[in-house]
Amino acid sequence: MSLDVTRWKIADVQEALGSRRATAREICEATLARIAEENPKNNAFLTVTEDRALAQAAAIDRHVAEGKPLPPLAGVPIAVKDVIHAEGVRTTCASKILGDFIAPYSATAVERLETAGAVVVGKTSCDEFAMGSSNENSAFGPVRNPHDLERVPGGSSGGSAAAVAAGMCVAALGSDTGGSIRQPASFCGVVGVMPTYGRVSRYGLVAYASSLDHIGPLGRTVKDTATVLSVIAGRDPLDSTSAAVAVPDYAADLDEPVKGFKIGVPREYFAAGLLPDVRAQVEAGLAALRGLGCELVDITLPHTEYATACYYIIATAEASSNLARYDGVRYGRRTPDAASLSEMYRKTRDLGFGTEVKRRIMLGTYVLSAGYYDAYYRKAQKVRALVARDFARAFETVDAIATPTTPTAAFRLGEKTADPLAMYLSDIYTITGNLAGIPGISVPCGTVPGSSAGTRLPVGLQLLARHFDEARMFRLAHQFEMARPKD
Ligand code: GLN
Repeated sequence: MSLDVTRWKIADVQEALGSRRATAREICEATLARIAEENPKNNAFLTVTEDRALAQAAAIDRHVAEGKPLPPLAGVPIAVKDVIHAEGVRTTCASKILGDFIAPYSATAVERLETAGAVVVGKTSCDEFAMGSSNENSAFGPVRNPHDLERVPGGSSGGSAAAVAAGMCVAALGSDTGGSIRQPASFCGVVGVMPTYGRVSRYGLVAYASSLDHIGPLGRTVKDTATVLSVIAGRDPLDSTSAAVAVPDYAADLDEPVKGFKIGVPREYFAAGLLPDVRAQVEAGLAALRGLGCELVDITLPHTEYATACYYIIATAEASSNLARYDGVRYGRRTPDAASLSEMYRKTRDLGFGTEVKRRIMLGTYVLSAGYYDAYYRKAQKVRALVARDFARAFETVDAIATPTTPTAAFRLGEKTADPLAMYLSDIYTITGNLAGIPGISVPCGTVPGSSAGTRLPVGLQLLARHFDEARMFRLAHQFEMARPKD
């Protein structure tokens, strides 16, 4: 019988290789078979890197045969969001404009994963250029939520979250600019981590909004995401915003007690908009934290209500600048039928970009233009500082902050596509962390009834921590994961 790796964690791979119960090749083949079976249903992968994966697995098996100590991710099948480069593999950003762009180098995060023995099995779908909250903005069709195929997996890292949830890889990389790791993790019932800004190098991540972009892991357990983050984090001379802060082994002290931790519960995150059944799960989650001996404290983050507007000004401004490079000359597709250079630019961008990307480029250009810069962009920067100050003040008295990850569980495909503002509001609890640059994690926290009898939809609890305090965040998240109410 062939190997069933669909629920495997990193420790299962380590155990199987260590005991010679399975080879890296067998694990890789079982994973590729699972992808072939599930992808027609959920569309999580845009590219499967079979040859590359099998070559890496063979290298790991040689390593095992020689009896050498294995690196931490030896043989672990990992998927990578298709905005992060893997050398020699196409990076589409789920956009037509980069549909056949082959990455000339690997992102630092991918290089570190492969050096640690990970087997990259493919590139996962996402919203075009990571712009979206439902994965419906992909030029290659939407991804479907493995818990209910009529629902979205969340976005923009929807493919990575669905791939982990559907057993198509052990862990995945995503990117988070306004919630794009934590929100899909919550919708798909997996763990998703946005590290501190500067914790993981952005070299090789296609830029959306550079001051808000983060690479981070998704996995089945907190421990697995902690292990992956330990591998990819740390200073990189190729990204000047990556921080020279030592990287602890995040998975090492997960069982240290959390008794006495003070956890802030911001009242603004439990206001109107939070659906009652989601709230009930999150409140049960808070009770579980109390049961671990944590002290819950009511806190206020008063500028929360301005965060969404502020984010969509700053993110679109940066996007309009970052996406100017797709001009039909430097990267990707070029329209063949243009009479002049300016017509070529215009047509290439018109045909290459989807509606949401165009909307953002226009919004961003508008808020940066003379006359509007002071009214919108500069104001938004000031509000960003106030949002960050809210957190800094809160962290003077609390060790972590607990919130719902999203106001609702996964919504239906098409439910919000006609109303971009409603879509933007699904990020309301996650974008504040990006504006402040602090780390956050979403951990599964019960389920709520889905549309048809018997379906249940996952809910996520978000934990936010001080800058570079991921170790404490993981510890709390891990113990919460063990204690949370199961339904
Ligand atoms: N949904 C948010 C947006 O569309 C966040 C996206 C992200 O984090 N990449 O901008």
